Amino acid sequence: MDSLKRRILKDGLVIDKNILKVDSFLNHQVDLNLMYEIGTYFKNYFKEAKPTKIFTVESSGIAPASMTALQMGLPMVILKKETSKILSDNIYQTVIHSFTKSIDYNLTLSKKYITAKDRILIIDDFLAKGEAASGAIRLIESAGAEVSGIGIVIEKSFQPGRKLLESKGYRVYSLARISSLEQGCIKFCSDKNPSAK
Ligand code: 5GP
Repeated sequence: MDSLKRRILKDGLVIDKNILKVDSFLNHQVDLNLMYEIGTYFKNYFKEAKPTKIFTVESSGIAPASMTALQMGLPMVILKKETSKILSDNIYQTVIHSFTKSIDYNLTLSKKYITAKDRILIIDDFLAKGEAASGAIRLIESAGAEVSGIGIVIEKSFQPGRKLLESKGYRVYSLARISSLEQGCIKFCSDKNPSAK
């Protein structure tokens, strides 16, 4: 997605060789026109997969996920990051490690918002090690539902997230794939999404 890549080059801040900050349009202030365009890309790519719901992880995935859900006419469900374990029969929980904050969360989903018949499209802002997406997959599969795809706004392809998810057979589609953040310089992958069909 060329407009997204241009925006990353214009406004992205390289914190170190592993972290890109995009607070001015995605993670703090949000550019809703850009989010709408992102939603259009995800809708066009994933419409054949016929998802029944969009899932995202709080909080930075909410903007792109909501614009995708709006355009696909689907409900959006936010997986919550609880700091403590909740003892209840009405929820699914799994532990994930936050890449940016270096802490563990209990990713939490109410059983009310998923059935075994659901086909879930996961949308998130970043893909790094694949922890958040893997946690979302565990929750979805605990309910007997199916993962119909994973849509990522910014993938850091030099980290192992995509390989991990693809090795388990999931379809990953990213709108901007970064090959390197070395020496403060943002470089994009030249190839298309490897699993894109
Ligand atoms: P993963 O779970 O794939 O290891 O990391 C993805 C999650 O960590 C995303 O939901 C995102 O919030 C956060 N994250 C990972 N890398 C970055 C980054 O370089 N910049 C920002 N802003 N968030 C990141």
